[in-house]
Amino acid sequence: MRLALLTDIHANREAFEAVLADMANRAVDRIMILGDLVGYGPDPGWCVDKVMEMVAAGAQCVRGNHDRAIGIADGALNPSARRVIDWTVNRLTAPQKLFLSELPMTIAEDDMLFVHASANDPSDWIYVTSESSAMPSFRVCDARLIFCGHVHRPALYSCDLTGRVMHHPIAPGLPTPLIKSRRWLSVIGSVGQPRDGSHLAAYAILDRVTNELTFRRVGYDSTTTARKSREAGLPEALAQRLMKGI
Ligand code: ZN
Repeated sequence: MRLALLTDIHANREAFEAVLADMANRAVDRIMILGDLVGYGPDPGWCVDKVMEMVAAGAQCVRGNHDRAIGIADGALNPSARRVIDWTVNRLTAPQKLFLSELPMTIAEDDMLFVHASANDPSDWIYVTSESSAMPSFRVCDARLIFCGHVHRPALYSCDLTGRVMHHPIAPGLPTPLIKSRRWLSVIGSVGQPRDGSHLAAYAILDRVTNELTFRRVGYDSTTTARKSREAGLPEALAQRLMKGI
């Protein structure tokens, strides 16, 4: 069984389409989306419709902080993110908003846990960016494999039997064995707004048979997305960010 993990699509149609095209060639059986379908980008309606279609066909999806911010005053978002959410609200239909509001915060299945931000406090939107910030997620649950998004920079951590957490370097495109004597927390990079210095869309594939995780990067037409972002009147910094991956 091969499971594709996608997160932080952020209303970026071009990046989302490129990832789906890349995925189509990789014998994926199932799809898990880790939230933040909207926010920042210029194509929220298209992206939510696409995810709704994928969920109707068997994919699963959890809720991100930007999905939650639709329709509520969320003081936790920075001003530029809030401005785009206010713009996004007027571009979503009632069924699209209902879909976002009904997404679960976490999905647990077998030895796996899927959550947008962190396992220890899913609705507090904690950023897992270090061994010390990964540790509480390992402590709070028994899952052997934890998958998160939210950070927009791919990362991999493991925890040994004594509770010691280790960071592992990532080699995109190369399968990493998730050895069974350790537990693993994978931060899947962002489809629609990468922030690790590369503008390439990120996602990952977990092979449950070989027990290997492969982080992938996919080129897409970020110039078009940046143009659409400017034409929509969204903050200029967001268009710049797409081009630079920062
Ligand atoms: Zn995000």
